[in-house]
Amino acid sequence: MVEKTYVTYNQVHKLCQESAPRILEEFRPNLMIAIGGGGYVPARILRSFLKQPGHPNIPIQAIGLSLYEALGTADAIETPGTRVTRTQWLDLSSLEMANLIGKNVLIVDEVDDTRTTLEYAVRELEKDVREAQQKAGRTGEETKFSIFVLHNKDKPKKGKLPEEIIHGRYLAARTVGDDWICYPWEATDIDEHDRLAKEQEQKQS
Ligand code: 5GP
Repeated sequence: MVEKTYVTYNQVHKLCQESAPRILEEFRPNLMIAIGGGGYVPARILRSFLKQPGHPNIPIQAIGLSLYEALGTADAIETPGTRVTRTQWLDLSSLEMANLIGKNVLIVDEVDDTRTTLEYAVRELEKDVREAQQKAGRTGEETKFSIFVLHNKDKPKKGKLPEEIIHGRYLAARTVGDDWICYPWEATDIDEHDRLAKEQEQKQS
């Protein structure tokens, strides 16, 4: 049976707080892209810790991706696996995509499990930025993507990330086992969720 790990808002807050100095120093983000829904809360908390005196808040853009098992379709029989679809994306025709050109963009999600979602997000964002650069005649400007997740599950990954991201522009606040992580924003009874988190903490100490 898959074990469950309960994570509280307080713990999420502190994971963002302790990660912020490294993010500021190493990634220097100008913009965050939060992958919904799990990336929204960490991105918002992180923004408070990334705020520097005299500088504006780092803007957060939201994207939505949906994962489904690619079973039962003709091509899925040959290549079974997981598919990703965009449910929300940056507006390609407006300034939203051009706004990424030449920036340090921090992609935020709650968990890196099979890595399928992150692979898709990086690949597609890089592709769309390249197109926007060509359209705008700004191909000389370098856009750098980095990644922050609260938890990275230590397991074989289906998705691949570019080497320069994995070695140098990837930060997981915690590397964990392959348990199911219960995040507080998914809880329907937050008091019970916090009680279970506390109970778990006591058992471990
Ligand atoms: P991926 O497998 O692409 O890395 O993760 C896909 C998505 O599955 C994540 O963004 C997250 O929404 C969900 N997911 C994967 N593992 C967990 C987990 O342990 N807990 C929760 N709550 N969601 C998870």
